[in-house]
Formats: sequence, C-alpha cells, structure tokens
Amino acid sequence: MLGAFGSEGLGQRPSAFLVDDRVLVDAGTVGGALTVTEQTEIQHALISHAHLDHTAGLAFLTDTLAMVAPERRVTVSSIGPVIESLRTHAFNDALWPNFTTIPSGANPVLGFRDLVEEAEARVGDLWVTPVPVEHTVPTTGYIVHDGETGFLYSGDTGPTNRLWRMAREMGGLRALIVETAFPNRLDGLARVSGHLTPDMLRREIDKMPPDVPIWIFHIKPQLFQETAEQLATIDPTRIHTLEQGKTYTL
Ligand SMILES: [Zn+2]
Ligand SMILES: [Zn+2]
Repeated sequence: MLGAFGSEGLGQRPSAFLVDDRVLVDAGTVGGALTVTEQTEIQHALISHAHLDHTAGLAFLTDTLAMVAPERRVTVSSIGPVIESLRTHAFNDALWPNFTTIPSGANPVLGFRDLVEEAEARVGDLWVTPVPVEHTVPTTGYIVHDGETGFLYSGDTGPTNRLWRMAREMGGLRALIVETAFPNRLDGLARVSGHLTPDMLRREIDKMPPDVPIWIFHIKPQLFQETAEQLATIDPTRIHTLEQGKTYTL
C-alpha cells in the first residue's frame, strides 16, 4: 500500500498500490513511498481514472526515470477515455512534459496502452479485466489475477452493478478492494461526486460476491476517524481498512 487515502494529509498519501514490485494499481503516490531504485523497477501502471489523487505519482515517476533510468519505461494502461485524458490534460507539454517523447520518441520512459472494456488483457505477469464503474469522469475498476489468485479493485465509484456482476461470474477472488470516501452525513456530496459512504457501501455488499473479504481504501484523510468508525459498525469480520505502508499477501 503506497497510499491509502482519497486525498493528501500529513503523512497520508493519495491512493496507489504496488503489486509484486512491478505493477502499480493507480498512482496517486509513487516517489513519496519508494526509493529511487524501487521506482525504476516499476514496469506497468494500471490506472482507474485520470483524477490527480490516482495519477499525480506518474508525473514524478516519469521524471525519475528520465533522469536515472532513461532506458526503462513505465507503460500506463487503462480504458481509452482515461488514456486520452492523461495525454490531453497531463502529459501535454503544458501541465507537464510529454514523456512519451523523452528521451526519444522511439524509446520513451512513458508508454500508453488502451484496454478494451470487459476484455481480459495481459499486463506484466497479471491478467486484468477492466470493468467501468460510476464516477464523475470515465473510470474503470479492475479484476486482476495471476492464474492462481486474484482480487478486485473498485477504483473511485458510487453505487455500481457491472463490476459486481462480473466478479460473481469470475469467482475465485481473495479480496475486494473497495473505495469509501466520506462519512454518512456527507451522503449528498458522495452522490454528486460518485463516491461511497459507509451506508452506501452496506447496500453495495448485497451485490458483491459473497464471503470475500472487503478491504477499504480512499477514505478522505480530513474526515478519516469519523468514516472509519462508521465502517467498523458494518461487519468487522469481513470489512477491514487498508493501512498505508503495509504489505499484504493474497
Ligand atoms: Zn479518488
Ligand atoms: Zn476520482
């Protein structure tokens, strides 16, 4: 867990996971949680959507690679509209350099790859299936497996259906990594911004594959305590909050 939160706070980093040292799942934080050597080992980034709390780390990771490992490349994979947004609004030579041409167009430190919705694709040693979810911008969750074991990652989402249906059909998942952003009293804000509160999560559970542990990420750090206390009342045997900096084994 490089970053467990839905924003930035003192010592609290935006959302990012690193799987088997090589594949980022979202990239809100990279350099703030890894050594330079660890950063250069990263080969892929699986991105849910373009929002900064999920992508800001890509800006500084590509900067690191260009300086200390220009022969390496991180390939950013997501559904088409997310890749388009990163190209147009982030790596556009205005907000940040276009690292798909650095150090050269033939061998850049940043690559982009479009994934097809609901189609399984190979990313590093993993199999990933993007399944779009409900947020304010194009956003996809992922079902990820390595042939033996797998997990689901929700990305940012409000109440959703396709992802849960697909997860039930696939089976064999060891963890459901699901967002919750706001405490229950900010229900209105959660709805307009495409996020879950603990009460909304409670209603989503009926649609999820049964008996799989649910791991929460993306709580807003400004309101962490209140949200975590409400989450703890739902089902403490099944619902856990992911801890930043900790390594989890499936
Ligand atoms: Zn977010
Ligand atoms: Zn978002």
